[in-house]
Amino acid sequence: MSIWFAFKVVVALGAALLLVRVGFAFLGSLARPVPEPPPPGELRRVRLTYRCSLCSTEVRMTAANDQVPEPPRHCQEDMDLVTPVDDL
Ligand SMILES: [Zn+2]
Repeated sequence: MSIWFAFKVVVALGAALLLVRVGFAFLGSLARPVPEPPPPGELRRVRLTYRCSLCSTEVRMTAANDQVPEPPRHCQEDMDLVTPVDDL
């Protein structure tokens, strides 16, 4: 009788452990790895200011993959580069 009880306890513990492991594996698969940033050599430090021609929002770009990158978009329109070209 006590052996049967001990057997049931062991089975229950095993099942519980299995559930915990499956749960953690599931959670781990949900946590996506953070994408690697591009190598620093591919990014250029820039100091470009863009202004939205529609709502006048200004943004400053501090890093880009090109010295003269594509302008960002705001209000569905390309933003205007307002940095003087001398500053590039
Ligand atoms: Zn805008």
